[in-house]
Amino acid sequence: DQRLTDGIRSEEDAGEQSLRPLALTEFIGQEKLRENLAIFVAAARERGEALDHVLFHGPPGLGKTTLAQIVSRELGVGFRATSGPVIARAGDLAALLTNLQPNDVLFIDEIHRLSPAVEEILYPAMEDYHLDLIIGEGPAARSVRIDLPKFTLVGATTRLGLLSTPLRDRFGIPLRLNFYTPAELETIVRRGARVIGLDLAASGAAEIARRSRGTPRVAGRLLRRVRDFALVAKAGQVDAMAADQALARLDVDKLGLDAMDRRFLHCIAANYGGGPVGVETLAAALAEQRDTIEEAIEPYLIQQGLLQRTPRGRMLTANGFKYLGLTPPRAAAQ
Ligand code: ADP
Repeated sequence: DQRLTDGIRSEEDAGEQSLRPLALTEFIGQEKLRENLAIFVAAARERGEALDHVLFHGPPGLGKTTLAQIVSRELGVGFRATSGPVIARAGDLAALLTNLQPNDVLFIDEIHRLSPAVEEILYPAMEDYHLDLIIGEGPAARSVRIDLPKFTLVGATTRLGLLSTPLRDRFGIPLRLNFYTPAELETIVRRGARVIGLDLAASGAAEIARRSRGTPRVAGRLLRRVRDFALVAKAGQVDAMAADQALARLDVDKLGLDAMDRRFLHCIAANYGGGPVGVETLAAALAEQRDTIEEAIEPYLIQQGLLQRTPRGRMLTANGFKYLGLTPPRAAAQ
């Protein structure tokens, strides 16, 4: 079932549409990325050409889709969106590509999940703006070449390592998104509160921000839940205490970790002496998908310095032990 604090998009997130920043100047955080992107976009506009292909990578919920939409807006071109698993056959992608207008943005989310057959036809499309399609079967089969308008492919992936090298190499502008700082998230939360009409004190915004796992999508979710509690409690302005009460009830702790995170850390400490332990072993022990662990649990624990990935497996750090209220063994990773 859906965790409140993972960044993975769910049905419940339909409400976040209204929170989406629409321009690069409204987009908070990711400063370096934003500055670079602004320059590339301005240069493409200046030349009247399609922007080079862009690849956004980083944990879920950090703003990859939002940025793709902003890029098309700032370029003043059309935006088409799809995702890797949705494009089943080469023909599906061909249909999308041949319907683009010059300089349009085609956004492919979860691009690491494209099938190899679909990837094949993407290469010449990205490189020389044409398609090589095989029409017919057997001896009657022939190859036709279709020219495409110049376009910008914007890919997004949570798993850069799963992207094939030839695909990765065809993106002229690879950009990595990092977790947001509490200060950046606080700005995002305050803006979100204004949009949904919640009277949120600065202290309340800071509290939500600190517990959002560095992830705007999580911040948006926590904000909406806190609003629900405030509405029912008729408490007036939401301060740090009111936010804390709501988040504690939602089982989101001071660091933003939930029961799943604690189960994960506890399993390494209790069953494997703090590690190193392989991710497959952990997945089996916890009855969780390896993907979920690598995508939605580990990155934040690593960023918080509670966990380390080593060549021999996952290890709790001294801070990881302390977090669990345990004394770190002398050999624990620092
Ligand atoms: P991803 O595609 O990386 O999973 P999204 O682009 O869908 O993430 O972002 C999730 C939500 O978080 C968005 O709907 C938006 O409301 C919010 N968001 C993301 N980045 C920012 C940001 N920098 N400033 C404000 N809100 C943001």
